[in-house]
Amino acid sequence: MNRPPTDPAKGPTHPAAEELLGRLTAYRSQDAPTHGGRVLSYVYDSGRPDLERLAAQAAEQVLWVNGLDPTTFPSVALLEGDLVRFAREMLRGPRVTGSVTSGGTESCLLAVLAARERWRRARQDREQRRPRLVVPASAHAAFHKAAHLFDLEVVVVPVDPRTGRPLVADMVAATEHPDVALVVVSAPSYPHGVVDPVTEVAEAAAALGVPCHVDACIGGLVLPWWEAAGGGAVPPWDFSVPGVSSISADLHKYGFAPKGASLLLFADPELDRARYFALTAWPGYPVVNPTLLGTRSTTSLAAAWAVVGALGPDGYVELTGRTVRATAATRAAVEGIEGLRVLGDPTGPLLAVATDDAVPPERRVDPHLWAGAVGRRGFVLQGQPGIAQSDGTVLPRSTHLTVTPVTEGVLPELVRALEEAADEVRGWAQSEEPSRGASEPGEALGIPDPEALAQAARAGGDLDLAQVLELIEALPREQSADLLRRFLAAFTAPG
Ligand SMILES: *Cc1c(COP(=O)(O)O)cnc(C)c1O
Repeated sequence: MNRPPTDPAKGPTHPAAEELLGRLTAYRSQDAPTHGGRVLSYVYDSGRPDLERLAAQAAEQVLWVNGLDPTTFPSVALLEGDLVRFAREMLRGPRVTGSVTSGGTESCLLAVLAARERWRRARQDREQRRPRLVVPASAHAAFHKAAHLFDLEVVVVPVDPRTGRPLVADMVAATEHPDVALVVVSAPSYPHGVVDPVTEVAEAAAALGVPCHVDACIGGLVLPWWEAAGGGAVPPWDFSVPGVSSISADLHKYGFAPKGASLLLFADPELDRARYFALTAWPGYPVVNPTLLGTRSTTSLAAAWAVVGALGPDGYVELTGRTVRATAATRAAVEGIEGLRVLGDPTGPLLAVATDDAVPPERRVDPHLWAGAVGRRGFVLQGQPGIAQSDGTVLPRSTHLTVTPVTEGVLPELVRALEEAADEVRGWAQSEEPSRGASEPGEALGIPDPEALAQAARAGGDLDLAQVLELIEALPREQSADLLRRFLAAFTAPG
């Protein structure tokens, strides 16, 4: 930190609390708003300030607790036990066991780790083989990260570009390989918001002796109440489905808890224990870690526990009802816009919006230029690049919307922004955006210097996200991933 020079005459060497908090407020003023429904990804606003005060008070009570050792701090086990009990009912697995982790990524990592350990233990000749992780193309990046960290080979099954779902036959064929350690399905998938064929894949996996993980990171605390809240039928996806061996469900998404909390549940206690790391062969304290960290904060655990306790199933049904209504209205608005379409038939509160190729080119709307134009009207949407799949089909570029209870309160404004933005950019192809018309030919696809981009962004300049996504589509993925690494390192380096 940039501390002011010390003046011995003035005493303390640290800035006064008031000044520090003022500086924090100034830093925070650069952030996107976490409340109010203007950012349709990243944040999940319940619209309930009473819940947020409760969460903050609960977190403050445990601020100095170490979650490393629940025998020294039994509150950790009690809080976690209450949340797992809640999850048993919510996910219809009366005997499931599990943990509260730091987030969806950690839950997915640990599900893969458990399955890899089980795979290893069952194989004498494991040194000659490599475990496989079967995922639909729409599975979250966290599974690629897990395979990277824990050395599995990812087998990506294409999804149908019209539905966003993988074919059951393709998932089963990939799972038939003798080295498959785990097969993953999503409820729903993050990119397209559609629920995968969980029943069929889980059944086939069970017949093959392969565990099946349902990634309900985003759906886990909204789909259980979707139908009761008026959202219509949800295909089966929880522990009531035979063959489902583990489920991840984020408390910090539709659980409306502050960031840093997710549930990971297992049907089989032995598979559950396979993710624990235990060590007695060192001279320090005996180590047993069910999750990735050692010393860990329990602030998010306590806050999530308080929010879940205060809401209960009835509170979730009520909030889900608002989300259901806002999702239906947003979807109807998008479907009414010429040149755009909703990809597939989403179940739950996520929408992926793509170009409607059924209309003539001059009436089409590019989803990334649209997202930019919506952004200029005060709502932040999330662009997703198009991608070619192994079967030669292409998943179109799209724009992602995560709808929350507070979306309902801004609906008229949001719908107007979505419609006006489409009118503004209809008929533009990416490289024809007028603001770029004056640039040198080829500049739109010239490879930018990520360090210079980071500096410009830090100086308050807006990133042209449509251009970044276009670059990701155009470059080999390893090359664009490397540009991202360099960009973020530069963006976060001390100024
Ligand atoms: C958000 C999400 C994840 C990753 O969770 P984080 O909390 O961001 O680490 C994994 N899977 C799905 C389907 C998600 O929506």
